[in-house]
Amino acid sequence: MTTEYEVFAIRYATRQARRHEHFIGGDPHDGPMPMDYFVWVAKNADRAVVIDIGFTAESGGKRGRILTRDPIDSLSLVGVDAVDVQDVILTHLHYDHVGNFNKFPTARFHLQEPEIQYAVGRYMRHKPLAKSFEPDDVCGIVRLNFAGRVVYRTGPGEVVPGISVVPTGGHSAGLQFVKVNSRRGVVVLASDVTHYYEHMETDRPYTTVLHVGDMLEAFDTLRAHAPTPDHIVPGHDPDVMRRYPAPSPELEGVVVRLDVAPRM
Ligand SMILES: [Zn+2]
Repeated sequence: MTTEYEVFAIRYATRQARRHEHFIGGDPHDGPMPMDYFVWVAKNADRAVVIDIGFTAESGGKRGRILTRDPIDSLSLVGVDAVDVQDVILTHLHYDHVGNFNKFPTARFHLQEPEIQYAVGRYMRHKPLAKSFEPDDVCGIVRLNFAGRVVYRTGPGEVVPGISVVPTGGHSAGLQFVKVNSRRGVVVLASDVTHYYEHMETDRPYTTVLHVGDMLEAFDTLRAHAPTPDHIVPGHDPDVMRRYPAPSPELEGVVVRLDVAPRM
């Protein structure tokens, strides 16, 4: 049994945005800063693990996001069928990371327990914190737990051989990032621990935040778990599609391989 994986990012949506929207305190050089949306896949001969599952057309649509392809149908681009997936890692419960759980009929969902406590707790009466959640998604995870299909974690640990999670908080109470063994070493799928390369590189917090101190500390945690900063993959940066190669020419702009060295 191998514990090395091929690792893919699939881009399924985008939105136009400006720099001041992405940094607390704004930005002195405001200008366009579009945001991309991804699902990630780690795959080898034994299994495929899906990391985050994207928003639904409905929840993305009411927020004005541009869905470029169905994130779950797009798993077929890397040879994965959601029906067969046994393990889904949810980095957190924001609408753009959890929307399509119904499309995985047999999977277990791996989540940090503080995230569900946050999502059903007192803070959800506050719009700035609640706006990133969909009540139907949160209720859906509660129901899945009653069906025995949620694996709640309270700390770092291995999910399957060669894939582990590390909680950091900051952006959301139970946010976790994912470490995947690959042929170029450990790839760190940061998800929203750092939305763009620039957040961790310049030590500036993103605007959707529960705890600023934890968010800033988390940049150090990411680096501590990565062989080099180049092994860290941000959660929403369009630059990921430029830095990494597509698995084939026709997938340019849609899928990249993260288990090979970046192009620059
Ligand atoms: Zn988020």
